[in-house]
Amino acid sequence: MRLGFLGAAGEVTGSCTLVETGDTRFLVDCGMFQGGAEARSKNLHALNFGFDVRKIDFVLLTHAHIDHSGLLPRLAMLGYKGPIYTTPATIDLLEVLLPDSAHIQEKEAEWQLRHRHRRGKDERGVPAPLYTVAQALASLSLLRPVAYGEILQPAATVKVCFHDAGHILGSSWLEVTVSGEGRPRKLVFSGDLGMPQRPVLSDPEKVIAQADVLLIESTYGDRLHRGLSETEDEIVDAFGRTWATHGNLVIPAFAVGRTQEIIYMLADLVRRQRLSPLKVYVDSPMANAATQITLAHPELLDPETRELIAWMKKHPEKMKLEFVADVERSKAINEIRSGAVIISASGMCEAGRIKYHLRENLPRSECSILIAGFQAAGTLGRRLVDKARLVNIFSQPVPVRARIYTVGGLSAHADQAALLNWLRGFHQPPGRTFVVHGEAGASANFAQAIEAQLGWSDVRLPAPGESVTL
Ligand SMILES: [Zn+2]
Repeated sequence: MRLGFLGAAGEVTGSCTLVETGDTRFLVDCGMFQGGAEARSKNLHALNFGFDVRKIDFVLLTHAHIDHSGLLPRLAMLGYKGPIYTTPATIDLLEVLLPDSAHIQEKEAEWQLRHRHRRGKDERGVPAPLYTVAQALASLSLLRPVAYGEILQPAATVKVCFHDAGHILGSSWLEVTVSGEGRPRKLVFSGDLGMPQRPVLSDPEKVIAQADVLLIESTYGDRLHRGLSETEDEIVDAFGRTWATHGNLVIPAFAVGRTQEIIYMLADLVRRQRLSPLKVYVDSPMANAATQITLAHPELLDPETRELIAWMKKHPEKMKLEFVADVERSKAINEIRSGAVIISASGMCEAGRIKYHLRENLPRSECSILIAGFQAAGTLGRRLVDKARLVNIFSQPVPVRARIYTVGGLSAHADQAALLNWLRGFHQPPGRTFVVHGEAGASANFAQAIEAQLGWSDVRLPAPGESVTL
C-alpha cells in the first residue's frame, strides 16, 4: 500500500491524500490550496498524479470546506467520472459552496481581463478560472450520500465508515479498512476535528480502539483556545458598551459554521438574560443558505442547540432574526443608526456585503465591530484587529472610530489539548502516525507533544508530495 501526501503537508490547505492498494486507487479529500503567491500554480498542478485521473476508483470527502473539496470540480473537468462519497449534509453545503467558488474565480478572471483592456493590453497572461460555474454544477452529479456509521464498500478490498468530526455540519473522520495485501489494515483519517463542548454541533465522535495508520490534523496543534465562558463575557461587555453609546454592532463572520454559532450564542445569552432582547440581521446570501441547511439537519445538532431553537420559535420577540434577502434591503440596513446587530460575510472582510456595513459603521465612534474569527495577514479584518486608524474600502479612505473587539474563544478546530484527548481514545499507539494540515511549526510542535505526552513513537511530518510505502 502507498500513501501520497498531495496537499496539506506542512500547510493548512490543499488537503488531498492518494491511497494506492493493489489495483485500487482512491483519494481522501481533494482540496484547493488557498492564500500565498504559489496557490494558483499548486492548484493547476495538484491533480497531476503521473497517471490519468480516470484511473482513480473513488473519492472519500471528509467535509465541505473548500480547502478539502475545492478541486473536486477540477478533478471532474479533467475526466474523473467515479463516485465521490460523503455525508448528506456535506452534499447540501457543496451545492452552495462549489458553484460559489467557481463564481469567485470567474469574477476574478473578468476583473483581470477588464483591467488589462483598460491598460490597452490583450488577454494573454490572464489566468483562466480553475473551473467554471457550469463545471462546478456538473461535478455535483458525482456526489453519493453516506450516513454516519454506515459501512460502505466502495471496492472489493476497501470498507469505509464515516464518523462525526464535530467540525462543521456534516464533517467526518474516516475509518478505512483495506484488505487484499496480507492481513486487513485500518487507516484513520481525522479530517478536521471540532472543539468539544462548543455550541451547535455534536462533539467529535470518539476514535476507534486501534489503527495501523493515522493521519491527524494539527491546525491548532501548538496552542490552547480561550474558554467559552471568557468569550461570552467579552461578548456581553461589547454589547453593553455599544448599547450605552447608542450604536450598532457589526460582526463579520464566515458564512458556514461561524454565523450559525454566533446566532445561537447570542440567543442563548438572551435566554439567560445576560443580554437584552436583540434585533439581528444576517446579511449574506451564503450565510442564509448555510443556516437553512443547518436547520434542515436537526439530527446533527447538539441537544442544547435543538432545545434553544425550540425556545427561539416560542419567543420570537426575544431574538428577532431577519435573513436579509436582497440588495435593496441590505442597503436599507445601512440607514439604521443604533440598536442593530449585523452579521455579515465574508469573515475576513475582503468581499461581500460586510464591506458596505463597515463603510457605514467604522467611522462612527458609537458603533462596535466584533471580530470572532481568524483574520489572515493582509486582509481588511486583520488591519482592524491590528488597530489601523484608517482603512481603504472600495478604494476610499475610511477612518476607524468604532471600537474593535477581538473575541478569541471561537474556533471550529480542536486545540492541542482536545486533539491529544481524542488521540487518547486509541488503546495502543497506531503503527504509523502522520501529522498533517498545520503550518510547519504547529505540526512539528504537535508531533513533539504526541511523543512527549502520549509516549508514541514513529510520529512523522510528511513532506509535500511525499509518497510513503507501508
Ligand atoms: Zn475544515
